Amino acid sequence: MPLRLYNTLTRQKEEFIPLHPPYVGMYVCGPTVYGEPHLGHARAAVVFDVLYRFLRFLGYKVRYVRNITDVGHLESDADEGEDKILKKARLEQIEPIEVAQRYTAMYHQAMDALNVLRPSIEPTATGHIAQQIAMIERILEQGYAYAVNGSVYLDVERYRQDFPYGILSGRNVEELIAGSRELEGQSEKKNPWDFALWKRAEPTHLMQWDSPWGRGYPGWHIECSAMSTHYLGVPFDIHGGGIDLIFPHHEAEIAQAHACFGKDAHYEARYWIHNNFVTIHGQKMSKSLGNFIAVEDVFTGKPPHLSRAYPPMALRFLILQAHYRSTLDFSEEALQAASRAYYRLMSTHARLEEVAPQSYSTFAVQPWRERVLATLEDDLNTAAALALFFEQTDFILKLYRGEEKLTQEDLQLLQRTWREVLEDILGLRRPISVPWQSWKHMVEFLIDLRTRARHEKNYALADAIRDKLKGLGVKLLDFPERTIWEQEEE
Ligand SMILES: [Zn+2]
Repeated sequence: MPLRLYNTLTRQKEEFIPLHPPYVGMYVCGPTVYGEPHLGHARAAVVFDVLYRFLRFLGYKVRYVRNITDVGHLESDADEGEDKILKKARLEQIEPIEVAQRYTAMYHQAMDALNVLRPSIEPTATGHIAQQIAMIERILEQGYAYAVNGSVYLDVERYRQDFPYGILSGRNVEELIAGSRELEGQSEKKNPWDFALWKRAEPTHLMQWDSPWGRGYPGWHIECSAMSTHYLGVPFDIHGGGIDLIFPHHEAEIAQAHACFGKDAHYEARYWIHNNFVTIHGQKMSKSLGNFIAVEDVFTGKPPHLSRAYPPMALRFLILQAHYRSTLDFSEEALQAASRAYYRLMSTHARLEEVAPQSYSTFAVQPWRERVLATLEDDLNTAAALALFFEQTDFILKLYRGEEKLTQEDLQLLQRTWREVLEDILGLRRPISVPWQSWKHMVEFLIDLRTRARHEKNYALADAIRDKLKGLGVKLLDFPERTIWEQEEE
C-alpha cells in the first residue's frame, strides 16, 4: 500500500508521490525562541519526527529543514505589537541573541529527551536576511508589493488579479475584509489585509539590518518562504506545521512564493500537513488561562498540573496515542495511563526477544506486519498501529511460555517488526538507561536467588527479594514451571 497523507490544500488524503524520488524535501515551521518549549511544541516535533522517520524507513532520502524564528515574529498577526524576542530581552534585561540562544538550547534539550531526531538543516531567520531581502526585491520587481516609509507590504489586491489568495485556508478576501479593521499606525498600507514583508526599524530597535529600503527587519512570513525555497527549491514536497499556522502564516508563504517565482511555485509545497492542538482538560493552553505546561514540567512533575515526574517516553507515547489531526487532550490521568501502557509494551518487547524458535508456527506474522505498516501508510495512524501491538501482548506471553509457537523465520520477522516500528519509526526508547543485558542478568540472578530461598522455605528472604524488585519497577509473575518478570512503570 502506498503512503497516503491528508493534504490541507486539497482537503483529502492523497497518495504521496515525491517530485524527485528517492529524494524528499520537507520543511516544518520551527519554534519562535522566546520562551520555554511547551506541549504544543512537543506534539508538532514528535508528529513530524514520525513522518521523517517513516519516510526514511520507506527508503526515501529526506532533506528535513526546520527553522528557528529568532526575529520578526510580532505579538499580533496584523503586523502590530512588539517583536516577541525583543520583548523577552527587555523583560529579562539581556540581549535578544541571548534570549534566542537560551530558548533554542532549551528546545533542543527537551526534544532530544523526547527522542526527536534533529532535522538535516536548522536555519535561523537572522542567518538568512540576505535571502529574504533578495526575495522581497524580486516580489517588488514583479509588481506584487509596494515600499512605503521604509517598509514593504505584499499587495494582496494586485496579487489576486493573477493568483488565488486564500487557497490553503479556504478563506476568501471578502471574509478577510469583514474581519479586518484599520489599526492605528497601519494607514501606510493600501489595504488592511496587506501584510509586511519588511518593516522599518526605529533607531532604538535592537535587531535591524541594512536593506534597499533603509534599516529594518523582516516579516515573519517571508523568513519561512526564503529559507524553505533556498534549501528545497520551488515547489518542494512537504510543508508542515501546527494547524494554527494555516492562516495567516502559511497562506502568506504561498502568496510570497507565487509573487516571487510565478506559477512555478505551484502552491509552494505539494503536500501541506498540519497537526492539531493540545488542549488541557478540554481548554486551549495559554499562559493567560493559567494552564500552560512546559515540556520540562512533565519531566520534573511541576505542580499544580502534575503530582509527580514522568519519563519523556510517557509523553511521547501519549502524543502517539492520538491521531495527529485530532486534538490531544492532556491531563495527568491521561499521561499516567500512557506511562503505564508504555512500560507494559516495552516489557512485552523485551520478552519477545527472549523467545526460542520452534519447528512450526501457530500465527501468521507476515500479514500482521502488513497490517501494522498499512495503518502508518494510512495518513500516519500511530494510534491504530499501537493498538495492533497491544493486541499481541497475551500472544507473546504465551509464546514465551511455549503455548504458542513460531519458526525461526517467523520469530525473526516478528522481532524485527517490533524493533523497526516501535523504535525506528515511532521513536520509542527502551525504559532504562543501564545496558539492557546487564540489567536483565541482575534481575534474573535475583529471581534465581528467590526461587532457591523458596525451595529452602526461607519465605522471609523470598518476599524481601520480591519487594525489592517491585521497588525497582520489576513485577514478578509466578507460574508453576518458572517465574517470569516484567518491567512496570517506575
Ligand atoms: Zn513558518
